[in-house]
Amino acid sequence: MKEILLLKYGEIVLKGANKRYFEDMLLRQLRHKAKPHGDFEIYRSQSTIYVEPKDDFCDMDGMMAAASKVFGIVAICRAAVCEKNMESILATVKEYIPPHLAGKKTFKVESKRSDKAFPLDSIEISKAAGGALLSACPYMKVDVHNPDVTVRVEVREYAAYVHPGPVKGAGGMPVGSNGRGLLLLSGGIDSPVAGYMMAKRGMTMEAIHFESFPYTSEMARDKVLRLAQIVSEYNNDEMIVHVVSLTKVQEELVKHCDEDYFTLLLRRYMMAIADRVASKFYCGALVTGESLGQVASQTTEAIGVTDPVAAHPVFRPCIGLDKEDIVVTARKIGTFETSIEPYEDCCTVFTPRHPRTRPDLKKVLAQEQKLPFDELVEEALANMYRVDVTPEGYEVRQ
Ligand code: ATP
Ligand code: MG
Repeated sequence: MKEILLLKYGEIVLKGANKRYFEDMLLRQLRHKAKPHGDFEIYRSQSTIYVEPKDDFCDMDGMMAAASKVFGIVAICRAAVCEKNMESILATVKEYIPPHLAGKKTFKVESKRSDKAFPLDSIEISKAAGGALLSACPYMKVDVHNPDVTVRVEVREYAAYVHPGPVKGAGGMPVGSNGRGLLLLSGGIDSPVAGYMMAKRGMTMEAIHFESFPYTSEMARDKVLRLAQIVSEYNNDEMIVHVVSLTKVQEELVKHCDEDYFTLLLRRYMMAIADRVASKFYCGALVTGESLGQVASQTTEAIGVTDPVAAHPVFRPCIGLDKEDIVVTARKIGTFETSIEPYEDCCTVFTPRHPRTRPDLKKVLAQEQKLPFDELVEEALANMYRVDVTPEGYEVRQ
């Protein structure tokens, strides 16, 4: 029996004159995602995207999993395709639906008829389909108010479709519909989640990672790039990661500044460098995984002294989330297991014993002035290199 995926996009995508633009974006992304799963025809009609296998070699499970990572799709229906006549529809209902009723007691049928020339109206279609299904599954009961399964019959432009209801899509807005963001990506739990969350709001994500050889290891960097691989699946299957060394900055900080201020000063360098990189690569905002109060550098006051270094807006999608909530998302998107691998981060080398949690900007600036801030930023930028990441792997450029 021939199957198809019907993908529905959210109301937000339908807004005004942008509809076509969003749809084209989704079609491009889905066509790209479909490639490893076979030869599919992907097209739109009546505010639905159709993903239709062209032959029997297509992997529908794989395609379904791939489609569930495309932001902007709110629901995915895997349906059987049949001819637009009642005989064919009822035969399909009887054959295709029963396996989906395993362990269920009640159902109802809902029908939609966008082809108004079809001889039966939607109520008549539902009645007939319900009767056919009862004859195939006499142990089932109809419950129109609170059924275990709602079977759908959709009579559309080219064919009729029968399915046991939608599964949830990724939601959000298509990646690329809301500008570019530069994600400050560490090896922790929070920043990959922050990248995912902003990609979900339609931002194309690019990343910057700070390392500190030899205080941080090759393995620590590999872990971060593997996290980027996972996040890239939600970002049109690609992500550029700019890698910047903070070794010199950290060594200078240790030599010249008060220990209590190390982390705050380091974070100001990180923000300043990220801000410059964002300008260079046309990113409209910085994105971090900060969550209010989680560590000393994430108090309101600490964020207050690191934030002003950046000219770009800084998006912190995790700011109001509890760690537990962030972990739930990390598990859902598949980054958690990698994030908890025990490698060091540049923020965890030279950590002060008593970091300032309520820093005073004037004092921070007095510390900062002990070093040639701009010069160190320039030097770090001069040694930056790029890594191209896809879900399959990564390649270090120069
Ligand atoms: P995470 O779990 O994402 O590492 P965290 O709770 O450990 O976050 P911090 O280490 O204080 O918090 O970092 C706060 C944010 O600063 C991170 O979410 C990330 O956006 C950024 N950041 C920290 N370390 C790095 C790094 N080495 N490279 C790039 N960004 C970093
Ligand atoms: Mg961290």
